[in-house]
Amino acid sequence: MNIIENQAEDILKKTINNYKSTNNKYFILCDTITEKLCLPILESICETSFSDNLIVINYGEKNKNIDSCMHIWQQLLDKNATRQSILCCLGGGIVCDMGAFVAATFKRGIPYILIPTTLIAQIDAAIGGKSAINFGHIKNQIGLFSSNTETFIISRFLDTLPDKEIYSGFAEMLKHALIADNSYWSKLSNIQDINQIKNINFIKKSIDIKLNICKQDLHEKHERKKLNFGHTIGHALESFSLEHSSVPLSHGHAIAFGIIAESYLSWKNGLINKNQLYNIKQIINKHFTKPNISSTDYNTIFNFIHFDKKRNKNLFNFTLISDIGNAIIDQQIDEQQIFSAINFCLD
Ligand code: NAD
Repeated sequence: MNIIENQAEDILKKTINNYKSTNNKYFILCDTITEKLCLPILESICETSFSDNLIVINYGEKNKNIDSCMHIWQQLLDKNATRQSILCCLGGGIVCDMGAFVAATFKRGIPYILIPTTLIAQIDAAIGGKSAINFGHIKNQIGLFSSNTETFIISRFLDTLPDKEIYSGFAEMLKHALIADNSYWSKLSNIQDINQIKNINFIKKSIDIKLNICKQDLHEKHERKKLNFGHTIGHALESFSLEHSSVPLSHGHAIAFGIIAESYLSWKNGLINKNQLYNIKQIINKHFTKPNISSTDYNTIFNFIHFDKKRNKNLFNFTLISDIGNAIIDQQIDEQQIFSAINFCLD
């Protein structure tokens, strides 16, 4: 795992041009939005047109599936990709997740690089070597770990990112602070303006936190489980919204409310105090609107957790926080508390 932040544009240009000079094929994977908004920037960085090397998928979480993978594998075959070819994934968490998965499985694995273009991808999805696609309506069910790649952090890609997507990344930054760094939480708590979120120092801080955790535990046996804070209930909210809403919640928006719910579980189990819980809830409610979900839907949301989550008898395994800046893994939570937590975050 190599994260290139300083002089990323120059190094990326050299990387792609070196590939060209060895006559090995390279391919640029985009979605329909990054093709329009980010590809021209990449072409200007590399001073090359990529029109013959392009593979494009439809944007959006509902396309993070095996059909899109089959399209990419087919395109690679049609364009005579070999085991020496490289796939350059230019896009948000979906292009990075799916591109990494496709590359790691095509002909038993071809090289790939990640060029994340959303905040969430720069601080999270493109860091740490995890890739996956959704299966049925459950997120990230099929995937793998593959850490042998380079990720290029180029902040100017964020200039075209809609506010909703900036906030989506902000939710993961808040999670990083809550699980690992109290003083980072204080700084993020003081953010008033959306432009402050894109501050490169915050991006670097989040990358450091995630990388540090992943280096200790690539395969998520212990330390890496800390990153799941907010995601058990958050993923259930996201899956529910994907299935039931015409304008689904962004990943981060769902995670933000998952963080409130799982902070509630932390409080309920005596791990944090009430002031800390309400501080977290207040900061999240300041930046994120409450999802429009009625209490009659709580059973359906719970069912997503039921199918998704490893459980021991009727207890579900959660990562919680034991302080602002400290996560605690493998906490066993019963169904009743999960319902109360869903109610607390959506109330
Ligand atoms: P995304 O890739 O769908 O991007 C969000 C939207 O922004 C898309 O419509 C995309 O086309 C658009 N976009 C991308 N770059 C843009 C730009 N520069 N300007 C304007 N629009 C742009 O999703 P995301 O929010 O980036 O990532 C969410 C995904 O990442 C989820 O599927 C989640 O499961 C995954 N994820 C993976 C990991 C991991 O460790 N592998 C970690 C966190 C999230």
